[in-house]
Amino acid sequence: MAPLKKDDDNIDRSWHPNYVEYTEMIIRNPAYRGLFYERGKDGRVKWVVTGKSANGQKRQAWWDAKCKELGIPIKKGCYAIAARTIHPTKRHVCQCCGKSLSIEYEYPTKNTLAKINELLELDLEQTEYTIGEIIDTFCDNNEWLEVMCNILHIPTFNDKKKAIDYVYSELVAKQSGMLSPGAMSNPPDRFEGYHSDGLCCREHTDKGRHSDNMKTYTQDRRAFEEWSDGDYNLANRLMGEFHKDTNLYKCPICGEMKRVSADHIGPISLGFCHSQFFAPLCSSCNSSKNNRFYKNDVDELIRLENEGNTVISWHSKYVWDTLKNEVRNDADAKRLSTIMSRSHQSVLSLFSIIYDKTGKEFLLRYLHPEYSMYDIRFQNFDPTDLSKLVVIRTDLDSKNKRKNQDRYVRIAFESLDDFKRKDNRRTLINLEPYEPRIDELIQLIDSRKFDTADKYLRTIIDSIGEDIINVTWD
Ligand SMILES: [Zn+2]
Ligand SMILES: [Zn+2]
Repeated sequence: MAPLKKDDDNIDRSWHPNYVEYTEMIIRNPAYRGLFYERGKDGRVKWVVTGKSANGQKRQAWWDAKCKELGIPIKKGCYAIAARTIHPTKRHVCQCCGKSLSIEYEYPTKNTLAKINELLELDLEQTEYTIGEIIDTFCDNNEWLEVMCNILHIPTFNDKKKAIDYVYSELVAKQSGMLSPGAMSNPPDRFEGYHSDGLCCREHTDKGRHSDNMKTYTQDRRAFEEWSDGDYNLANRLMGEFHKDTNLYKCPICGEMKRVSADHIGPISLGFCHSQFFAPLCSSCNSSKNNRFYKNDVDELIRLENEGNTVISWHSKYVWDTLKNEVRNDADAKRLSTIMSRSHQSVLSLFSIIYDKTGKEFLLRYLHPEYSMYDIRFQNFDPTDLSKLVVIRTDLDSKNKRKNQDRYVRIAFESLDDFKRKDNRRTLINLEPYEPRIDELIQLIDSRKFDTADKYLRTIIDSIGEDIINVTWD
């Protein structure tokens, strides 16, 4: 098939043979009787007209009449309902690659797919399977099915057929934001009311947006980020500043002249706060250091505390305060980081149990949406000496404040869901011995004694920390 030349109505693009066949099938179908079209010199249907042209007006009049016939109110967005209702096969063929995809909301969005791929350890493409096919094909045991139900925020089923039925009646039919149709609607510009490129090929035009989504997703999905104290907004912006700096600096660990990245002196994953206390490490030292720290990091954190800074999150303070002065060498520092990591994991487990049993309200007191209210810029940025750094905060407008805060809170709770799934699979922390006390805590929360519950929660966290210290520290 020769590429189509540019003419008045059509963009310069070759039509896949399947698409040619599809357009002929569509125009012959009685569902579109009376809808205006003409053929170009190459004999193909001129599929696209512009809304304002005379031919566009003819199509618009036809869609108006169709809506009326179907009892659909004539206003913006309602042509889409008509287009889906009358489509004879409910499958659209992609002009670009010829792939046939459902026009229903049956495919995972990029974000949903990223979670599915991560948690079910798959490597699927967005239009490879419908959501029903994914459940049917990859959720053969109850564990996988439960993971999937959690991803989709639906009740847990132990029968995949029932789960699929539920997904179709509650998510697909209601056009859930977690799912996407195989083609976007666009009447009356396109003859049958769908964009020529399917979801399979839209990525070429939408690449920027998709990769942005992915970036946000991977940045946001670690639960400890949201549930730790400190100004995460400032810390993230400052990390970005390190990232943008292309100059070479001497890495304090390996001594080589390299680009540097920001290493939190107290790792967030161990329960330390978001802060501006970064060490400039080269990326290989940064990643090999990973989640542990050394005697000199402990000393530096104690020094920062003595200067009046808060370095540790409230939930990890007990373990840190108990052991920080006992660290004599790197081996001690390593053992401390193991203890802090385990204690922090159990805190997140506890939070996910509380979330599961009581919802969001009580836990909101441990979040800090107020940090999302500013735009932040820097002056005098020098990665090797942050003491001269000037931080400039600008108030966001109220709409963006709300948007950022809502987003932060939503991600905080989603990350607890994610954490719980992973925690279950690895069974890292055994909270069974604390169950009676957790039950009491839940009762306090249920009876809305939030301040008492807060105090009680702190005693539970401290005794978990103490038990971890007793079995791990000599
Ligand atoms: Zn395609
Ligand atoms: Zn290095």
